[in-house]
Amino acid sequence: MTVVHADPLSWLTDEAAAIAAAGLHRQPVARTATGTEINLASNDYLGLSRHPAVIAAAQDAVATWGAGSTSSRLVVGTTQAHLDFEDDLADFLGTPAALVFSSGYLANLGAVTALAGRGDLIVSDTGAHASLIDGCRLSRARVVVVERGDVDAVRRALAGRAEQRALVVTDSIYSIDGEVAPIAELYSAANDLGATLLVDEAHAVGVRGPGGRGVVAECGLSGAPGLVVTGVASKSLGAQGGFVAGSTALRAHLIDRARSFIFDTGLNPAAVAGAHAALGVLRADPQLPQTLRGSVQSFADAVGALAPQSAVVSLIVGDPVAAVTAAEHCRAEGILVGCFRPPSVPAGTSRLRVTIRADLAPATLLSVAAVVDRALESVGAR
Ligand code: PMP
Repeated sequence: MTVVHADPLSWLTDEAAAIAAAGLHRQPVARTATGTEINLASNDYLGLSRHPAVIAAAQDAVATWGAGSTSSRLVVGTTQAHLDFEDDLADFLGTPAALVFSSGYLANLGAVTALAGRGDLIVSDTGAHASLIDGCRLSRARVVVVERGDVDAVRRALAGRAEQRALVVTDSIYSIDGEVAPIAELYSAANDLGATLLVDEAHAVGVRGPGGRGVVAECGLSGAPGLVVTGVASKSLGAQGGFVAGSTALRAHLIDRARSFIFDTGLNPAAVAGAHAALGVLRADPQLPQTLRGSVQSFADAVGALAPQSAVVSLIVGDPVAAVTAAEHCRAEGILVGCFRPPSVPAGTSRLRVTIRADLAPATLLSVAAVVDRALESVGAR
């Protein structure tokens, strides 16, 4: 008979109590299917997740390919839908090739670990997304972390290295507060010093650059040598999935070496087709990003926030419990906003993170701004 001893996971209860005492307990909260709330917590910046053409494409893909991709990309998990989306994405981004992963997280993990390993250097920005940070940790490369957008520090780290190969990683739009990184300067630094620059455009595609092609395109760097672009289908493209775009040699290398590509089930065909249809909507209406940015500006003006450089409006509250209370206040009034606390943001900078959508009417935005204002006032953050 099996003897059951004391539960070796009993420490979880103590840890949960400590997390709760710090006001940092987290819980997934279900939103309603009908979307009666006004959702300003999502990353569906262009509102395309519910666009009729996107929904229809996803439904057709389920009918054609089934509910899942059924295996890893290298076995039978690649469909024509995957290949078509990759070709179109590459064309849109101005790169020779692209490779789709089943999430943006896994695209970053795969790209970083396939491009840097033991004996290499990675220079990583403190604002880089957790998936890039985790890629750095898994890579076994030496990692130098520099302050957000500190191009001189990047140059120093690259110039002083003993390693031959070096990779610089950054978000183009920092995910927490929506600020833009100095991509042109970082590219010059990397290029001058023989390093590759990997730019995560997750929050930039559909939001910035010509026709929503991102910050890299805005800087005139599309397809530049030594530049690797990663991104997601889970934000402006309203679906799910991630990608890496660059040279054909890069795509081939990732297929051979990126473990999060090789050992992961391929992206669901419905997500592929939905994202591809969303890309089509964006191509057909290249003004969409401008519409979004206009809405962002009017919302920011209404809540007295600084001019945001993307779709993200960050409203600092400070205390984590107060931030949660303010977010709950909004929710009680039918408005969903993001609430970011440590470890997602530094201590003392807990905040509401409001993401604007291009499909919201100006009057709706103003009434939302009034609610957010009251919520901030109720916790003394005004
Ligand atoms: N990069 C950035 C900058 C992100 O903000 C996120 C996620 N929110 C990701 C990558 C990961 O993308 P995904 O959610 O598609 O895994």
